[in-house]
Amino acid sequence: MKGGIVMDLKFDREHIWHPYTSAIDPLPCYAVRRAEGVMIELEDGRRLIDGMSSWWAVCHGYNNPVLNAAVENQLHSMSHVMFGGLTHKPAIDLARRLIELAPGQDWVFFSDSGSVAVEVALKMAIQYQYAAGHPERCRIATIRSGYHGDTWHAMSVCDPVTGMHSIFSSQLPVQFFAPAPQVPFGGEWNDMDLKPMRDIVARHGSELAAIVLEPIVQGAGGMRFYHPEYLRGVAELCRANGILLIADEIATGFGRTGRLFACNHADVTPDIMCVGKALTGGYMSFAATMCTARVASTISARTPGCFMHGPTFMGNPLACAVANASIDLLLSTDWQANIARIESRLRQHLGPLAADSRVADVRVLGAIGVVEMKEPVDMARLQRVFVDNGVWIRPFGRLVYVMPQYVISDAQLDMLCAGLAAGVDAC
Ligand SMILES: *Cc1c(COP(=O)(O)O)cnc(C)c1O
Repeated sequence: MKGGIVMDLKFDREHIWHPYTSAIDPLPCYAVRRAEGVMIELEDGRRLIDGMSSWWAVCHGYNNPVLNAAVENQLHSMSHVMFGGLTHKPAIDLARRLIELAPGQDWVFFSDSGSVAVEVALKMAIQYQYAAGHPERCRIATIRSGYHGDTWHAMSVCDPVTGMHSIFSSQLPVQFFAPAPQVPFGGEWNDMDLKPMRDIVARHGSELAAIVLEPIVQGAGGMRFYHPEYLRGVAELCRANGILLIADEIATGFGRTGRLFACNHADVTPDIMCVGKALTGGYMSFAATMCTARVASTISARTPGCFMHGPTFMGNPLACAVANASIDLLLSTDWQANIARIESRLRQHLGPLAADSRVADVRVLGAIGVVEMKEPVDMARLQRVFVDNGVWIRPFGRLVYVMPQYVISDAQLDMLCAGLAAGVDAC
């Protein structure tokens, strides 16, 4: 076999957990030999156009020479060094970039994954309230259909139904859930959309440390796009009631929605903001939790006089170096025009699918295209259809969606959308 790699898929099936899979009857996995640009090459030689950006992360292409060089260069000075008592240029450079780009943020906490970044954000909010003399403000409110990660507290603010809370509910900290916002992005704003969250704040505001949400785009919890006025309204509610606003930009950060951060759609400055996924151009597991100067100084002014978190691999230099290169690469292009190009092509190709009787809704925002079916799809069968059509798309529930890499060409985008349509047709 070309490339010389023979993979033991039987061993994989019998010993390795994949995301949300069974150990008894796992769904099939396709073996990947290599990936380059927007192409994923399977071990059997088939080449697939990547429609998933490996879950919102890879935006400049696999095996990107600029990002490869950033990792290689950093590798030769140090791949890792502890961040307690030591610091380094890649981390300083990255923090400087993030603070410059993210609305209103002043301090940066580096961690190793999005879920951890959310845990850190929740701890920050509660420690802030404690330090501000409000230990009673230790609860969190959020909106349904959200997704914030799989660790304990992050899971507790995920949608209670799709997050399978029932299994863990006796142990999860009970949070306050407002219904998901109903007015879509681009729809006509109706102030009643905010009423449920206003009611939660009216009833429980004095117990709330923070409201956490994904700004504008709710990703893995339902692929929903909501109105910027909703976000603005929540930000005002927070401001007026001493509640912190945590914006989880892990999926939306770095241009995905057409703005650098989704908060920019509403000109909102969150008190705490999480980024991950595309932060390193999808090269490494890495994330950051940012906060305002007020949050940072309040936390630090009261016993224990420091923020109580510090992962082993904090500020990993390889990850920082590739994140710096990825951000520079993004900003060196006319990325806004590019996302607009992808958006209009997705609209053009996916829009007509709305007429299909099996389709409930089609929505597009930035480089995100969603076809919501009326019935749940058979993921394993549909995935095979997609692979047979030369595209990599992984549906879940009733959602068939793409979030292509920013470097996808028009021709590749046309093929990706044609593959998606073939999948919808096979439903
Ligand atoms: C993916 C995601 C997370 C969790 O990130 P991991 O790196 O998978 O831990 C948190 N929030 C949002 C909005 C996400 O999309």
